[in-house]
Amino acid sequence: MKERCLVLMKPDALEKRITGLVVDRLERLELDIVACKTVSVTEDLIRKHYAHLAGKPFLESTVRYMMGDYNHIPNHKIMAFVFQGEDAVNKIRTALGATNPEKADPWTIRGSFGKFDKVADIVYNCVHASDHAEDAEREIALWFKPGEVLDA
Ligand code: ADP
Repeated sequence: MKERCLVLMKPDALEKRITGLVVDRLERLELDIVACKTVSVTEDLIRKHYAHLAGKPFLESTVRYMMGDYNHIPNHKIMAFVFQGEDAVNKIRTALGATNPEKADPWTIRGSFGKFDKVADIVYNCVHASDHAEDAEREIALWFKPGEVLDA
């Protein structure tokens, strides 16, 4: 089924300069980029994005991570994309690998470039992707205005 998926280059992906590599891998899944921009994120946006983490012990450090506090990225910068195509969510999540890079297959994006800081309990997994099609629509509405997303 043709669907959309929000993809975010997190601050560690920007610090490692792997945005192009990640986009290259995802485009090869026969998916189209239908929106793309740099965002200076606010704490409010990150908290809304990660509303499902409410009550988790790692919520605050995840917010700080997404605000760029642990990487050398100024202006709270994140790059946001919308990919569209057949089975987009499943294809992208398979290419990313497991949430914890130590559990991700080594050839996946998170397995190749992510790391888990056990002491600080921060999962640096480089890239976010929506985890199902309905949630993708909620996330896309948070990150993009309607006119910024074009149908492929
Ligand atoms: P995913 O990003 O794979 O959809 P979740 O929605 O469960 O995973 O978690 C959102 C983000 O919160 C993760 O990408 C990661 O940055 C962080 N996170 C998840 N689980 C943990 C954990 N056990 N410890 C620290 N950070 C975590």
